[in-house]
Amino acid sequence: MANDRINLLGMPQAALEALFIEFGEKAFHARQLMRWVYQRGVTDFEEMTDLSKSLRRKLEDETSIELPEVLSQHDSEDGTIKWLFESGFGQAVEAVFIPEPDRGTLCISSQVGCALDCAFCATGAQGFNRNLSAAEIIGQVWHANQALPRRDNDAADFAVTNVVFMGMGEPLANYRNVVPAIEVLISDLAYGISHRRVTVSTSGLVPNMDKLGDECNVSLAVSLHAPNDDLRDELVPINKMHPIEKLLDACWRYAGKRTNRHITFEYVMLDGVNDSLAHADQLGALLRNRPAKVNLIPFNPFAGNEYRRSPADTILDFQNRLRQHGLVATTRKTRGEDINAACGQLAGKVSDRVRNRLSEKRRRVATA
Ligand code: SAH
Ligand code: SF4
Repeated sequence: MANDRINLLGMPQAALEALFIEFGEKAFHARQLMRWVYQRGVTDFEEMTDLSKSLRRKLEDETSIELPEVLSQHDSEDGTIKWLFESGFGQAVEAVFIPEPDRGTLCISSQVGCALDCAFCATGAQGFNRNLSAAEIIGQVWHANQALPRRDNDAADFAVTNVVFMGMGEPLANYRNVVPAIEVLISDLAYGISHRRVTVSTSGLVPNMDKLGDECNVSLAVSLHAPNDDLRDELVPINKMHPIEKLLDACWRYAGKRTNRHITFEYVMLDGVNDSLAHADQLGALLRNRPAKVNLIPFNPFAGNEYRRSPADTILDFQNRLRQHGLVATTRKTRGEDINAACGQLAGKVSDRVRNRLSEKRRRVATA
């Protein structure tokens, strides 16, 4: 049965080589296989013509390259594209492609839902269902690179040049699957994305921030959202476990492990909640003279949530005040709002049409 087979998708080079050796084969076949799967987009072993027939047969019998099923694609007026991937039990996870002239950023999901329940987040509001596997995480990138034309028609130039773990879920709560996925992203045998162009965004799981700094060296974004513990306890409940002082210490440790690298602090702008100049001053005091950048995110509303987005001039004043503290501060451009693809709007909502298709599929499986 397909389910008993080892899924090779999302398996880093070292693990794949160990598997080939276990099969009594030479380790270098792992490298050939990775080039087929990621660089040429081939998932049928039969087409991997530089592998011997007997090896192809063995792979066919014992392994698979199983991609997540794409349920739908939504195209925004601004060029942003969102895909929904089946994640079981009538639920879906989302990935969002944001094209810019000099880059193509894919925002990917790491969990179905999220347990951390931040007060302003649609993913948090749906609760936690499960972790995605490394295959399901890498599958989002595989699909985007297959679906989109390569940049400049250069065969090695994938559409996805940057990956941010800012979709559904808390990546550091799914550490054991996120790290192998990162290894595949940065491998020259796969997508060869520089570790600087891979960003993990976390709400502040301190112990795993330290581990990530030791093991991965990717860019780090931290969802701060409040400049004092009272307010952050309310907005980002994990703050009660890892308060701001401990979180910032972990940030500076992380930055210290890498040369010339900054931590990006995300700060969602909520009208009348965290957006006063006094808040900006508190934030400035926390971050000034540190390897920090601030990225202000205008709040994106979603059904059932009462917060409002700060007015544009409030955001601008806040940003300018941070700059007076000597900080680099930018405001994130909201993209893909018309297809509910903006930050914090991802809830993996499956449309009725797709839901019908899914339940039909389940019926078929149940009666098979
Ligand atoms: N769990 C991780 C990554 C996913 S969320 C984290 O929290 O960092 C990616 C970013 O979107 C985070 O900074 C998050 O706080 C922000 N976000 C969540 N809901 C939002 C909303 N409704 N409007 C704007 N940004 C939001
Ligand atoms: Fe989870 Fe991040 Fe949403 Fe918080 S903001 S609930 S950590 S996905």
